Amino acid sequence: SSVRVPSLDAPNSESSYLSIAEIMEGKTLVPSSMSQVLEELTMAQDSEDSFFIADVAQIAEQHKIWVSELPRIHPHFAVKSNPDPVMIKMLANLGTGFDCASKTEIKLVLDAGVSPDRIIYAHPCKPTSHLVYARQNRVSLMTFDNRNELYKIKAHYPDAKIVLRISTDDSNSLCRLSLKFGASMDSVQELIETAHELDLDLVGVSFHVGSGCNDDTAFTKALMDSRKVFDLAAKSGYKLSLLDIGGGFPSPKQKSGVEFKTIASNIRSVLDDLFPVSENIRIISEPGRFFSSSPFSLAVNITSKRQINSPASFMYYINDGVYGSFNCIMFDHQVVFPEPLVVNGSFIHHPESISSPTFQSSIWGPTCDSIDCVVSDTQLPEFFVGDWILFQNMGAYTGSAASKFNGFDASPVYYYNSSS
Ligand code: PLP
Repeated sequence: SSVRVPSLDAPNSESSYLSIAEIMEGKTLVPSSMSQVLEELTMAQDSEDSFFIADVAQIAEQHKIWVSELPRIHPHFAVKSNPDPVMIKMLANLGTGFDCASKTEIKLVLDAGVSPDRIIYAHPCKPTSHLVYARQNRVSLMTFDNRNELYKIKAHYPDAKIVLRISTDDSNSLCRLSLKFGASMDSVQELIETAHELDLDLVGVSFHVGSGCNDDTAFTKALMDSRKVFDLAAKSGYKLSLLDIGGGFPSPKQKSGVEFKTIASNIRSVLDDLFPVSENIRIISEPGRFFSSSPFSLAVNITSKRQINSPASFMYYINDGVYGSFNCIMFDHQVVFPEPLVVNGSFIHHPESISSPTFQSSIWGPTCDSIDCVVSDTQLPEFFVGDWILFQNMGAYTGSAASKFNGFDASPVYYYNSSS
């Protein structure tokens, strides 16, 4: 990257932000503010490339919120939402488990020093080679939702601990996962019987209410269905011991929709009714967005500008777009919010107090494709080529699905620590 990183005084000196290579070498971060880090990075000479900054203190803060709101539920971070190695190390140190969906994700988590019993292979339809990799690496806990998957598991990992994923009503979620995965309640009995005939170790039930869930009661229905599966399985001789309530939890900094605390309070009371502590059932979850969204912000540079006369407006061209980090607009149905960061060459410490007039503006990604529109119509102060725009809460389903279309590289990440 051509973003200038001020050189460190000594190999082990502390800096207000570090690149991935530096942080992995064990260098430590001194407490610093987001604005300090952004100012250093954007105002550095020749600074041009877009970049993420990630606040490691915010990762820890999310974990603290989880533990205080849902103390009975052990989170397994959904790596797909952001496979950032520092994020994985931080969460591993904080004691979470991990939800992996492929051989590569499993390897990433194992390479971070996490033991295989802290991983759930949460993909109900697994390529055989990935299943074999899970067996070779002793990742035994995994989901399934159909009969053919049971035959595959019997053939390649007969002593796996299998978890039946059921479908949910996810009609109020941004990304509906039950269109593709999850056994219907009608098919549950047959699947339990098949597992029994194959002498497989059925240990639990899982579900996913859909990513970006906007319905605080979605979990209630899914938990009631899970209870039914526990009771059905008991009739076939299985004493299930694991409940996996999946992902779908919003980031506490989400600007609209149902709040995490409302969902958490509902889950606490339903769990206490349906799965009382006395039953000693292990309860886990697979949150992705909840952990990964808010620690990451994306700074983009204005590389070109076009003035339109009718209607009077500006078109700004930036160096990350929908084929890159902003793929969340397409795949994750997100709306992103631009904030002025550097205007006419001056760093903006308090965007809320900008007094300059605003103009109708649109923001476009760097590729040659007109679908590459990041914000189609908003009011912004006038920017100039070389200025910067900030997008906050950009850590979930952004860099993880970014392509290099048209030769534009993914935005690198710099890490800082906002906490003293
Ligand atoms: N678990 C599974 C199986 C998923 O497919 C997903 C997202 O697609 C997640 C967990 C994470 O969901 P979220 O980021 O909404 O918490």
